[in-house]
Amino acid sequence: MLSNKPMNILFFGPSGSGKGTQAEILAEKYNLQRLQSGAILRKWAMEKTAFGKKVQAAMNEGFVPSEWIFQMTEEEFNKVDKNQGLMLENFSRMLPEIKNLYKVLAKLERKLDYIFLIHISDKEAIKRMLKRGTCEKCEKVVVLEDEVQEIICPACTGIIKRRKDENIESIKKRLADYHSKTSEVLDYVKAHDRLIKIDGNQSIEKVFQDIISYIEINK
Ligand SMILES: [Zn+2]
Repeated sequence: MLSNKPMNILFFGPSGSGKGTQAEILAEKYNLQRLQSGAILRKWAMEKTAFGKKVQAAMNEGFVPSEWIFQMTEEEFNKVDKNQGLMLENFSRMLPEIKNLYKVLAKLERKLDYIFLIHISDKEAIKRMLKRGTCEKCEKVVVLEDEVQEIICPACTGIIKRRKDENIESIKKRLADYHSKTSEVLDYVKAHDRLIKIDGNQSIEKVFQDIISYIEINK
């Protein structure tokens, strides 16, 4: 990689893998603009335009046409300064999403420099997810101490609550869903680029060190 080119990183990992935390600190370290596929969709769906309403309706039905995803992704990516790198998250849920991502990047003459898959065992993912709370306002996810039901969000002062629907069965269902959808997405990625596996069962600090070491050695 040429050092004067902006660095673009893509992250994969199931809920509970800590990818959001890693993405946040990495984005800060390398001054990357964070972009998340779900957040892009939700942002557009909230627009009071005809297109926004169509997106909202499509999301409610659970299917957003791939041309729309392309259009929204391209517009959001275009807003980022050409000299700033990208931190890309949550483009793993559907094959059309990742195909669109590659198309948009090619159009903007950007390439993916590092693609990390943070791998954790289902057992560890379940353990972590049962402890999590989500901010009602900004969707920040934190680990709550046992017995604590809610706290004030350090990022936006909203309220972070435990998810009421969170139980082992719903988590297992979500993980199974992740594995089935992600495998075809990862196959697509591996056909184009190198996928770097990181052991996410370790502490946040150790995972971060592994990622940084990889980047610094291969820069
Ligand atoms: Zn918040």
